[in-house]
Amino acid sequence: MTNRQWTWLFVALLVVAWPLLSPFSATLLNYIGLYSLVAVGLVMLTGVGGITSFGQAAFVGLGAYATAWICTSPVAAHALSGIHGDLLPWLGLLLGLAVTGVIAWILGAVTLPLSGHFLALGTLAWGLSLYYVFGNLEGLGGFTGIADVRPLAIAGHELTSPRLFGIIIWLVLLLSIWAMHNLLDSREGRAIRALKSGRVMAESMGVDTSRQRMKLFMLAALLAAMSGWLYTHLQRFVNPTPFNLEIGIEYLFMAVVGGSGHLWGAVLGATLITLLKEQLQDWLPTLLGTGGNFEIIVFGLIMLLILQRAADGLWPLLAALAQRWVKPVAPRAARTTQAALGRRKLPPRGQVVLRATQVTKRFAGLVANDSVDLDVKAGEVHALIGPNGAGKSTFFNIISGVDDPTSGTVTLLGQAMMGKPSRAFAALGMSRTFQHVRLLGQRSVLENVALGAHLRGRRGWLSAMLRTDRHEEAALLAEACKQIERCGLLSYIDTPAASLPLGQQRIVEIARALAGQPSILLLDEPAAGLRHLEKQALVQLLSQLRSEGLAVLVVEHDMEFVMNLADRITVLEFGRVIALGSPAEVQVNPRVMEAYLGVEDTEGVAA
Ligand code: ADP
Ligand code: MG
Repeated sequence: MTNRQWTWLFVALLVVAWPLLSPFSATLLNYIGLYSLVAVGLVMLTGVGGITSFGQAAFVGLGAYATAWICTSPVAAHALSGIHGDLLPWLGLLLGLAVTGVIAWILGAVTLPLSGHFLALGTLAWGLSLYYVFGNLEGLGGFTGIADVRPLAIAGHELTSPRLFGIIIWLVLLLSIWAMHNLLDSREGRAIRALKSGRVMAESMGVDTSRQRMKLFMLAALLAAMSGWLYTHLQRFVNPTPFNLEIGIEYLFMAVVGGSGHLWGAVLGATLITLLKEQLQDWLPTLLGTGGNFEIIVFGLIMLLILQRAADGLWPLLAALAQRWVKPVAPRAARTTQAALGRRKLPPRGQVVLRATQVTKRFAGLVANDSVDLDVKAGEVHALIGPNGAGKSTFFNIISGVDDPTSGTVTLLGQAMMGKPSRAFAALGMSRTFQHVRLLGQRSVLENVALGAHLRGRRGWLSAMLRTDRHEEAALLAEACKQIERCGLLSYIDTPAASLPLGQQRIVEIARALAGQPSILLLDEPAAGLRHLEKQALVQLLSQLRSEGLAVLVVEHDMEFVMNLADRITVLEFGRVIALGSPAEVQVNPRVMEAYLGVEDTEGVAA
C-alpha cells in the first residue's frame, strides 16, 4: 500500500467506527482532534520551520474567547441585533481568525527577529501574559469565564451532541492536514523547509526568510485559533485554564513526541498524550493516593524518556516499522512533463556581469578586504585564489549580498547592489554554492535542486494548499531533473542529499545553482573533496557552461583545477589584490610565488 492508501484506510476506519464509538470514546476523540489541529500547526512551525513556540495555547484562547464573546456579550448582541443567532458562531470564527491574525502578526514582528532560545523565551512571555489577559478582562468573565455559549448550527440543526460535533472537528483536522501536506509538497514548501538550514542559504535561493517565517507563524496561530473556536462550541463554556502556559508546553510535547517534522506525527502525539494523561489520572490516584499531583510528575518522566529514546519523535519509528507495508511512490511523473519555465535572457558574451570596485571590508581593526577590484564577464571563468585568511570568503559574501562592504561598490548587470539582500542578487541571476555544503540533508536530490528554481515560479501558499500550482510545479521539477541529469546525478535523484559523499553533495549544489538559470555562478571551492575523475567531469561541466555564455567566479585551492579551467585569475593576499592575469602570467609572477611559499595546504602555484 502507498502512503495515500494508508491515509484513506485510516479515514475509512474513522468513518465506520464513528457511530459505534461509546460516548466516552467519541468525546476523547474529539479532544484528540482539537489538540491535533494545534499540534499540526506546531509541526509546521517548529518541526519543519525550526521556530519553537511555547505560546500556542494563547492563540487557541483567542479563537475560543472571540466566539464566546460574540455569542454572549450584550455589546455584541446590540451591535449585531439584525443578525440571525445561528450565524453568530460563524461570525465568531471570522472574528477569532481576524483577532488572532492581527495579534500573531504583532507578536511575530516582535518575537521572530529574535533567534534561538531568545525566540522561545519570547513565546513563553506572551503565552504567559495572554493567559492573564483572558483572566483579567471584565468583559470576558474573568477567571470564571463565559458560560452558555450557543451551539454551532448548520442548516438550522444545532450540533449539541459530541458525536455530531466530532464530525466537524475531524473534517477540519483532515482538511488541514491535507492542505499542509500540499503546502509542504510545493515550491513554497521547499522554501519553508529551507528556513531550518539557515537564512544565508535560503536567502541566496531568493527566499524572503523573514516573510516566510511570519507567514508560518501566522498559519500555526490560525490553526490554533480554529481549534479554539471548535473547542468553545463543543464545550459551550470557556475559562482561561485550558489556555495557560502549561497547556502551551503540552502542545509542544505533542508535536515533538509525535514526530516533529511529520504532519501525522501531530495526530500521533496528540493521541498518545491525551490517552496517557487520561490513564494516569485514572490509575495513579488509586495507586499513590490523591495527594500529590503524581500524574504530572509521571507524565514528565515519560516525556523525558520518549525524548531521550526517540529524539525525532515516534512517527519515524512507526514509519520504519511499517516500511514493509508501505510501497514507495514511483518517482515523480513530473520528469516527463511538457511544462517548461520561462527563460532569462543572458547578457552577451564579453559583457561585464559583476563588477566590484575598491571593495574594502573591516572587522574591528582587521582589514579583510583592502580596495579589491574585480570583474567577471559573460563567457569566462574567473578564479579567485590566495592563501588561507587572504579574504576570499569575505569577498564572496560581499559580492553575493550576504555582507555589506565598509566601502566600495558592487554592481550586478549594471545595477548598484550595496545594501541589498542576497535574494535581490539571486533575482538578477546570481547563483552560488557554499564552501560548507548547505543542503536539506533529509530531502531528496530532486527537492534540493528544485529549491534552486524558487524564483522561477510564482505560485504562493494558497495556490499550493489547494493544489492549483501543479502545472508550475511540474515545470519546476522538470527543470530540476534537467540540471540533475546535466550534472550526472540522475541515478541519485531520489536519494536524500545527506547520504551522498561530500564531493557529490557539492555537485548537487551546482545543479541547484543552475536550476536558477543564472547569468553568473559563484562557486566556493567546488573541487574540494572530489576524486580525480570527478574533478575532470567538473572541469568539463564548467567549460560547457562557459561556452554557453555563463559568467563563472570560482574560489579554489586546487591549483591544477584552477590552471586547467580559468581564463583569468585574481590573487589575494592579506586582503589585497597582488596579481591579475591569465594562468600562464600568474604562475610566473614573483609576488604570487612568494605569497604561496610555505603555505602548506595549497599545492603551490609553481608546481
Ligand atoms: P579566506 O576565505 O581567504 O580564507 P576569510 O575571508 O575567511 O579568508 O578571512 C579573511 C580575514 O578576515 C581572516 O583574518 C579572518 O580571520 C577575518 N574574518 C573573517 N570573517 C570575520 C568576522 N566575521 N569577524 C572578524 N574577522 C573576520
Ligand atoms: Mg574561505
